[in-house]
Amino acid sequence: MRERRGSTVSRDRAREIERLARALRGIPVRTEPHYRLSYGFDATGTRGSCGGVAFPGDLRDLGRLVRESSRRRIPLFMRGAGSGFSGGSIPLDNGLVVSTEKLSRVLHFDARREEVEVECGLVNKELQDFLEPLGFFYPPDPASLNFSTIGGNIAENAGGPRAFKYGVTRRYVRSLTWVTAEGIAVERDPPRGPTAALVGAEGTLGAIYAARLGVVPLPAAYRTSLLEVSAGWGALSLAGSFIAAGLAPSVLEYIDSKTMRCVGEYCCFGGLARDAHYLFIEIDGSREEADEQQRLLESLAERAGVVIRAASTEAERELLWKVRRSVSPSLARRGVTKVNEDVSLPLGKLEEGARFVHELAHELDLDCYVFGHAGDGNMHVNVMTDRRRTEEMRRVESFVERLFARTVELGGTLSGEHGIGMTKSPYLGMIFTPAELALARGIKRCMDPEGILNPGKYFSREGAAA
Ligand SMILES: Cc1cc2nc3c(=O)[nH]c(=O)nc-3n(C[C@H](O)[C@H](O)[C@H](O)COP(=O)(O)OP(=O)(O)OC[C@H]3O[C@@H](n4cnc5c(N)ncnc54)[C@H](O)[C@@H]3O)c2cc1C
Repeated sequence: MRERRGSTVSRDRAREIERLARALRGIPVRTEPHYRLSYGFDATGTRGSCGGVAFPGDLRDLGRLVRESSRRRIPLFMRGAGSGFSGGSIPLDNGLVVSTEKLSRVLHFDARREEVEVECGLVNKELQDFLEPLGFFYPPDPASLNFSTIGGNIAENAGGPRAFKYGVTRRYVRSLTWVTAEGIAVERDPPRGPTAALVGAEGTLGAIYAARLGVVPLPAAYRTSLLEVSAGWGALSLAGSFIAAGLAPSVLEYIDSKTMRCVGEYCCFGGLARDAHYLFIEIDGSREEADEQQRLLESLAERAGVVIRAASTEAERELLWKVRRSVSPSLARRGVTKVNEDVSLPLGKLEEGARFVHELAHELDLDCYVFGHAGDGNMHVNVMTDRRRTEEMRRVESFVERLFARTVELGGTLSGEHGIGMTKSPYLGMIFTPAELALARGIKRCMDPEGILNPGKYFSREGAAA
């Protein structure tokens, strides 16, 4: 019975999308099975249900697409690269995916004002490659920068290794051009009021077309080091004590011993101590500043009895970055399903949080790895599992619930940067009061009265703002 109703819904939706495609002459809308399959996922590996994929080519297209879909009440799912880790871009109920692939131009660059205007589908790395020869960089650098898009980064308020010194995406968004749920184009400079709410709204409040972004002159010097803290636990507390002693790195990353072993095997990086935990630290600034800070780091490391590998050439720096960037791909080989949580904790509680995670994984007999942007309080907790093993998945669920509960007890929050999407929306009641959730729901209703923008995400799951 359920199946029949389901297939009636999909047939009706397929006809609606066909009619929409005819009305949208000039905007490609693809409904072949291979499109519906490949645009039905994000990095969580969860499959949604996709009725078709539209490819707007400019702001006018995006406006028409949203307006016509809104009139027909066809749900829309904005999608950059689909690299999200919380199900944000996964289409539901045979809705229409709006791919931003064709919106990938750099529109304007102004060196004097230190800003660049880009369309939302531009890949972060392509922006960095555009800026570098001009002597600038765009600080938000998610570890997914080689493939994630600026629109996805803005919608998730993405962070990254450099967030410790430079902050996250919101700090760099100077104006936004976007389309309301009714299909009206808005340009707001600076992004105040409803426009400001779009940063981090995960595609639930509006469709971002373009952004003017602040950029920063490239530092004259970098000093990059990998620290081996072999006393078992203590790497995260040690990092805290370095900061308290005046160290001000741009990057401060933590990699636990188990994760580092995978990375070592993956990129043939030898000489790793078996039970050591690692800190990846980069300092940047003028040559004098960088040298002074590096001297401080080396003396702090020596006093703490920590082994330090400092890059002395650009090739060695590249190798250390390769080690850091290999964390995710090296883990991907450890299991069929990667459950990736990105809780965030006050710096002073990170060590306790990491210990809790390892003890809990041991108790529930799960294969767990911890790393993250330690300077920013972001702790990535990865459980390598297989969603086909039902009993193990029940233990994973229990692990995630207990992880969230402990995180909140320690004064932290459920997501540092991966967003709420589908995976975390059932837990929003852990961090927001019913009054706050009702307020969030009210904002959603005002900005998207028909509920066509990314329905089923953030606001509308059980326990969340439903
Ligand atoms: C290996 C790996 C490493 C990662 N490392 C980091 C990291 O260091 N820091 C970090 O923050 N994240 C990280 N992520 C998560 C992910 O890459 C980020 O959330 C990224 O910002 C998503 O960009 P995307 O283009 O893939 O967006 P998608 O996954 O396609 O979409 C993400 C959300 O944004 C919405 N959206 C996309 N485009 C628009 C638009 N134009 N208008 C409105 N809404 C839109 C979607 O509807 C969805 O809700 C990582 C992911 C992977 C796979």
